Amino acid sequence: MKYRLLGNTGLRVSEVALGCEGAINAPFELVKEITEAAIAGGMNFLDIFCAEPDVRDAFGQLLHPYRDNFMIQGHLGACWENGQYLRSREEKHVVPAFEDLLKRLKRDYLDVGMIHYVDTDSDLDEIMNGWFITYMQELKQKGLIRHIGMSSHNPEVALRAVKTGLLEVLLFSVNPCYDLQPPREEFDEVWKPENYTDPLKNIDPVREELYTTCEANGVGIVVMKAFGGGDLLDAEWSPFRIAMKPEHCLHYALTRPAAASVVGGYRSASEAHAAARYSDLSDEERDYAPFLANVPTHSFMGKCIYCGHCAPCTVGINIAQVNKFHDLTRNKDTVPPSVKDHYRLLSHHAGECIACGQCEVNCPFGVEIINKMKEAEQVFGY
Ligand code: SF4
Ligand code: SF4
Repeated sequence: MKYRLLGNTGLRVSEVALGCEGAINAPFELVKEITEAAIAGGMNFLDIFCAEPDVRDAFGQLLHPYRDNFMIQGHLGACWENGQYLRSREEKHVVPAFEDLLKRLKRDYLDVGMIHYVDTDSDLDEIMNGWFITYMQELKQKGLIRHIGMSSHNPEVALRAVKTGLLEVLLFSVNPCYDLQPPREEFDEVWKPENYTDPLKNIDPVREELYTTCEANGVGIVVMKAFGGGDLLDAEWSPFRIAMKPEHCLHYALTRPAAASVVGGYRSASEAHAAARYSDLSDEERDYAPFLANVPTHSFMGKCIYCGHCAPCTVGINIAQVNKFHDLTRNKDTVPPSVKDHYRLLSHHAGECIACGQCEVNCPFGVEIINKMKEAEQVFGY
């Protein structure tokens, strides 16, 4: 397992981490098997949005022995009332639900406190202009949450939230199908077949801006829905009409700017074990480019998606990384210092390109890489 810094939080989270979906309505023994497989595979991070008391209790019991080195991201606003899940912005629900979460998890604090499921502008306005954000900041001051995050499926709302400067972590739905779709307030819309009838091309610009803004502002992205609820793994259900492998979905998500970790709601120990193997796979095994280049109706042509399929470069340039850093400078008067620094640390730079053209033969997306290297050289100076 490899570990990545979660934005500017200082937390080093496993690239692949544990979600709670597989624990809903599951017997304790199964949750135990899944959690043990996740820990054995090197996962060190749990996202828990569940309000179900038995799920909270199960993770509290199972993770207590690992409390010093297993981090938890818990959701505020996911409440439990009359035996049912309730998404609430009301103090009378949110505060006791948070206290219940800490108690059941047997923790004194959450590593990340997530504002749960914010997909509309009106909801974001209510949270950011009312008691909720003040409460989050008070919890942070008291050390009851270490960092403030928010979960969303709507890139427009998430981008507004990130731009407030109040968030340190974003839990966001990322996969190549969602990435083609424009922002929508109703999350279910991104999966409706009628929204994939007409050809779609390249990553939606708002989503791109969200990822690059997170990277530039040091907001770490934790990815959810990387497998599209499993549909991306099945040609019959996938809007792409081809089946991707789990490692392709993980690698796609983890090659977005700012992405630090993917959480999965594994339904068995073997699923958790297989996901944990991601870090050990070769570049060839994780390479999703051949799949996305062969999607029947939709395409990613002409723009770099950072897949790395063009490697190796004749002179050793990491083309995907150069393109990613270059894209982070777009619409900026000067190169952000962090991007400048990351670029400097590359072993080879765009200015070393000898225009041999080998990478362009290898890129299945028709990216004009030689021109991109020239542009990057101009921006970074070497
Ligand atoms: S240039 Fe093409 S092959 Fe290389 S990383 Fe970008 S999209 Fe992938
Ligand atoms: S054209 Fe430039 S970037 Fe591409 S393989 Fe040749 S040297 Fe590397």
